[in-house]
Amino acid sequence: MSAVSPCCGRFAPSPTGDLHFGSLLAALASCLEARAHGGCWLVRMEDVDTPRNVPGAGARILACLEAHGFCWDGEVLWQSQRREAYRAALASLRENRRAYPCACSRKEIAAAATGLAIDGALRYSGHCRQGLPAGRGARAWRLMVEDVDIAFDDRILGRIRQNLARDVGDFVLWRADGPFAYQLAVVVDDAFQGVTQVVRGADLLHSTPRQIYLQHLLGLPTPEYAHLPIATNAAGEKLSKQTRARPLQTRCAAANLSAALAFLGQAPPPELAKASVEEAWRWASAHWTIGGRKREYSDNNAP
Ligand code: GLU
Ligand code: ZN
Repeated sequence: MSAVSPCCGRFAPSPTGDLHFGSLLAALASCLEARAHGGCWLVRMEDVDTPRNVPGAGARILACLEAHGFCWDGEVLWQSQRREAYRAALASLRENRRAYPCACSRKEIAAAATGLAIDGALRYSGHCRQGLPAGRGARAWRLMVEDVDIAFDDRILGRIRQNLARDVGDFVLWRADGPFAYQLAVVVDDAFQGVTQVVRGADLLHSTPRQIYLQHLLGLPTPEYAHLPIATNAAGEKLSKQTRARPLQTRCAAANLSAALAFLGQAPPPELAKASVEEAWRWASAHWTIGGRKREYSDNNAP
């Protein structure tokens, strides 16, 4: 690594379906922001959660990005190829006694839960912190969190503060019968790829303190974070595969880019929707400012 680390952004889709307008926002904003700083921009395929992957979705996502005029630097990193690195990170957390095995079943977790975590999931009671109950095996490895506030300055949303013990609880790093958790994989890979700025949807805002905490424990640098407003459908639901967001049509690439720029508060001229993809990018690069639309950020997005 060089003495001065250059700016580097990334887009990290999960290949669980096609790209939709919500994912285009994260791709476009992360790319424009990195390029505005003269930085590199990487694509990482988050296919670590293998049962949810849809065959062929990764290739379709890359083709769709290309059709929308995106050019990423270097090779795409596939998380399914990175299990050794996640294993090593988990081993180091185990050695430092920060990760511990948990034998609890779903039922036991529900029965002992001490309330809800910030994302609405049950907050784990910490039952197995003192060791596995006799005769029981590990179903998962969890991170032991402390009763401290984690704070960071989001480039769009400002100061964000979360107490991991209160708002999250001891969270899963790895399930014995399944994949490594997103929180662990993303931290290991952002550091491995030299990512210095993370720009993504505000649906992941609640995860960021967990990631910063893991970075501290693993001795990894913390990137800058910016969380974008979330696109919703007519019913007010977040656009996602679960809410059956429409896949992006590549024949409307310039119109899609133009709509994404408008949503991101860049106020593109109406003609841009009918321009070429190249022109849309030229306009976007010349006018980009992150967080153009402050009034859009309501309390709903704050933790
Ligand atoms: N793979 C995650 C998703 O598609 C995004 C991860 C990230 O940007 O940190 O929701
Ligand atoms: Zn347990």
